[in-house]
Amino acid sequence: DNESPDRNVAFYCNDMNQGMQERMRIESGLRHALGHGELTLYYQPKFEIGSGHVVGAEALVRWVHPERGVVPPAEFIPLAEATGLIVQVGEWVLEQACAQAAVWNRAGLPPLRLAVNVSAREFTPSLPGRVADTLKRYRLDPSWLELEITESTLMHDIERVIGIMDRINKLGVALSLDDFGTGYSSLSYLKRFPINTLKIDRSFTTGIPADASDCAIAGTIISIGRQLRHRVIAEGVETLEQLEFLRKSGCDEVQGYLYAKPLPAYEFEQSLRENWLL
Ligand code: C2E
Ligand code: CA
Ligand code: CA
Ligand code: CA
Repeated sequence: DNESPDRNVAFYCNDMNQGMQERMRIESGLRHALGHGELTLYYQPKFEIGSGHVVGAEALVRWVHPERGVVPPAEFIPLAEATGLIVQVGEWVLEQACAQAAVWNRAGLPPLRLAVNVSAREFTPSLPGRVADTLKRYRLDPSWLELEITESTLMHDIERVIGIMDRINKLGVALSLDDFGTGYSSLSYLKRFPINTLKIDRSFTTGIPADASDCAIAGTIISIGRQLRHRVIAEGVETLEQLEFLRKSGCDEVQGYLYAKPLPAYEFEQSLRENWLL
């Protein structure tokens, strides 16, 4: 009898073992990567719609694996978050982004805000101090740095989170609310967050202009953002139609493949000098 309970249990355990083995393999690989310089940052430019100027870039982590090549964050960030390794990854990312900003600053590039993604588990009371210390060590003006936090960060102890946000805000480091509209944060809290920017998630941008609901959601986020005196940026902009809709709706900034994919630092700098800094 194929459906005997024992067999099902055996199959289940096998699957579970495979899943666990895969997790452990990635986890020890990631530890190794952190210690052996296998992580790198790619940079994707952000443009102001009105002026067409490049105003910043988002730093996006990549794992350059000796055998597997460039591994995207979707394949290791969720695991890093589950195991707590994200704290070390995050420390490395902040350090690396500030080091790069200092290099570009000294090379005479105009100030660009480099945005670093910060996971909920990194958003602890020790974060503002670590940010301040890093800026100081690199003698970097805070206008070079921005932190992108997602709504999941805001679902925890809200008073504590606002306290941390206030301290970051006082440093002069910009804060943006990433993937806005995809989580569960209440609109009533939005007015209390000391943030500079709302970021429209790619899942909404993608449906513009064909999907009426996505257009309505994007338009509403822009309207709320403007009324609360925040800047609004749309991510995942791939077409001129999307850009046109966003421009007409009053969106401030855009980021997406229409302009550039995330690029290694030297390619980003090259494009900056040749195409984007006009
Ligand atoms: P995210 O913060 O929402 O980043 C935007 C993602 O959309 C990036 O994927 C970017 O490459 C992609 N993207 C940008 N423009 C376009 C476009 O026009 N079309 C399409 N199809 N995609 C576009 P990426 O680099 O694979 O990163 C995925 C996610 O991994 C990020 O989503 C973020 O949640 C996480 N992540 C990346 N780097 C870090 C990091 O250093 N720390 C943490 N905690 N998370 C990170
Ligand atoms: Ca982001
Ligand atoms: Ca995002
Ligand atoms: Ca997103």
